[in-house]
Amino acid sequence: SYRKGGYHAVRVGDSFAAGRYIAQQKLGWGQFSTVWLAYDTQSSKYVALKIQKSAPQFAQAALHEIEILCAIADGDPSNEKSVVRLVDHFKHVGPNGQHLCMVLEFLGDSLLRLIKYNRYKGLQLDKVREICKCILTALDYLHEKLGIIHTDLKPENILLCNTINPSKDPIRSGMTPILERPEGNPNGGVSMSSIEKKLKQRARRAIARISERRASMGGVGVVPKPARCLDGIDLRCKVVDFGNACWADRPIAEEIQTRQYRAPEVILQSGYSFAADMWSFACTAFELATGEMMFAPKNGQGFSEDEDHLALMMELLGKMPRKVATGGARSKDYFDRYGDLKRIRRLKYGSLDRLLVDKYKFSDADAREFAGFLRPIFDFEPEKRPTAKQCLQHPWLNTVNQAHGELKSESSDEKVNVGMNNLQIKLRK
Ligand code: ADP
Ligand code: MG
Repeated sequence: SYRKGGYHAVRVGDSFAAGRYIAQQKLGWGQFSTVWLAYDTQSSKYVALKIQKSAPQFAQAALHEIEILCAIADGDPSNEKSVVRLVDHFKHVGPNGQHLCMVLEFLGDSLLRLIKYNRYKGLQLDKVREICKCILTALDYLHEKLGIIHTDLKPENILLCNTINPSKDPIRSGMTPILERPEGNPNGGVSMSSIEKKLKQRARRAIARISERRASMGGVGVVPKPARCLDGIDLRCKVVDFGNACWADRPIAEEIQTRQYRAPEVILQSGYSFAADMWSFACTAFELATGEMMFAPKNGQGFSEDEDHLALMMELLGKMPRKVATGGARSKDYFDRYGDLKRIRRLKYGSLDRLLVDKYKFSDADAREFAGFLRPIFDFEPEKRPTAKQCLQHPWLNTVNQAHGELKSESSDEKVNVGMNNLQIKLRK
């Protein structure tokens, strides 16, 4: 992809915007861009530099992303809405063409990394609550104030404000910025460290495959690693990656969202709006609390990934109302006229709070409370899902877990609960 129209090859010490930003190390990459840690010589701060591929369709997408990020920054001058901040943007001409570049505030690890770091055990509910509050603050701002749908909310696209490991944080670790290109960097822009990382990743995956196989053969020699302690890690976070975001009155694509976080109305093509982000939010919250994806559909003999996805949803959330099941442009592909799946007939119904207790070993009280928060968001009818603002009012977000595992409301104010009950009654009509 490092060719005409593709990525711009960056080397440590390369400078951008007439010498203002200097590349330090690669942070990550996506389909359309590479993202580098850069030093801003004007403000003496570290920033994230997102360098888009140069072909016209990528430039077009970057312009759209910049437009959205500008609106986000304009509407939130004090930068308190848990959404990534655009600092600057410019064009950079290189051997592969002209690249649009975005300068973003530098953030830490993604929630996906956090889940992995915690060895897929699920975070303590107090931590989940803090993260949920941040995400909901961001969604409420995007939806209510700006009219923007993110359309790709998932753990990968939510970054912690800090790195998990303080020694990886250029500021806390006291890293001295590199101000010019070091002598002789023979790797033509792809830094050695990224090749090494890939090799290590491959080795790790091979080991994971072997231990998975062993586990399936009776678990010989597999000792599950305990979750890591996250005490003292500040879990504030921000929503990033507005490459697919759109204005609600101008939807861009029919198929949005990453598979596992995709809402039923998107699969059925019944039209989508802000509530599609709420579905992805609830899937994300579940994953934080359990360490596993809420829905991980697979295709099988005689049925597609979409059908498996719909079946998984109904097994956990109950049968889809007939008018919802049959109301989308693609409904006929999956449902008969009675609202039953055509190719997957026998569903094993369960419930969210049973799943939390049986599979994830939640206490009854924790399961009831957490499911009480999530369940209304998983409404098959998007209009009935609570909004981000309504979710922020939910008592679960304002509870603290006591040492003895009992749940108590922080405020003993009965009105909060009464208010929420009314809300749910109204939502469920
Ligand atoms: P794409 O649209 O190509 O998926 P993203 O905006 O998701 O690009 O960025 C790709 C990766 O770069 C992210 O997954 C993350 O690892 C890293 N990244 C993006 N923005 C930042 C930021 N502001 N601070 C630190 N890392 C970032
Ligand atoms: Mg991304």
